[in-house]
Amino acid sequence: MDQNFFITIRFYEELNDFLKNHPLKRDIIHKFTGRRSVKDLIECFGVPHTEVELILVQGEPVDFSYTVQNNDRISVFPMFERLNIKGVSPLRESPLRESRFVLDVHLGKLARDLRMLGFDTDYKRFRDDSELVGISSLENRILLTRDRQLLMRKIVTHGFIIRSDDPKIQLREVLDRLDLREEIKPFTRCLICNGRIDELTNENESYSDFMKIVPPNVQIWAREYTYCPLCLKVFWKGSHYESLMKRIRQIRDL
Ligand SMILES: [Zn+2]
Repeated sequence: MDQNFFITIRFYEELNDFLKNHPLKRDIIHKFTGRRSVKDLIECFGVPHTEVELILVQGEPVDFSYTVQNNDRISVFPMFERLNIKGVSPLRESPLRESRFVLDVHLGKLARDLRMLGFDTDYKRFRDDSELVGISSLENRILLTRDRQLLMRKIVTHGFIIRSDDPKIQLREVLDRLDLREEIKPFTRCLICNGRIDELTNENESYSDFMKIVPPNVQIWAREYTYCPLCLKVFWKGSHYESLMKRIRQIRDL
């Protein structure tokens, strides 16, 4: 017969957002049957493992594969929580150096905003879950989604749940969570295809071809041009530019 296990578990800070039918921010006494990894145990409470940065059992850090023992006392801390846990957490080898993203199909507006701020953001309107998970894993991209089931897949190591359905608040969630305001580089990514925007000068061998796209009345006054090497669009600082800059300043101050 399978053994019964009694454990005490506590979730910290925003991990409580995921708990349903359990007391929040308090010790939870939990009974289950049969051997189980701490990853599975945490996820049976509705908390995706990608949201978790640190797990302590009797005060000692463990990794996701740890097999839960009877009477264990488990503390679970959120990802990117601003506690100083450097050097303690064994869950991931190292944080991602550059914040790169892949977004699920429901987050189109957020994708556009992230590109506007210069973040490498992979997004397409049609993609299935396996594709999203694969891209996240192979390209080390942080998977942003509103679907917590998606983040429960073991292969996903970096990802988090977008709580809000309002794109403006979604953007703030990402900037806050990853502390990204200092890394904002406006107009360095193409809003349409995520290509890296480059300067367009007359040294470019296709300069004259590119300039054919620019309306003559713009060429009269515009001096600086940029272009996207992937989708071959040309940009200049028109009135649209000023309103985007204003939005970016507002975002920085959010
Ligand atoms: Zn482009």
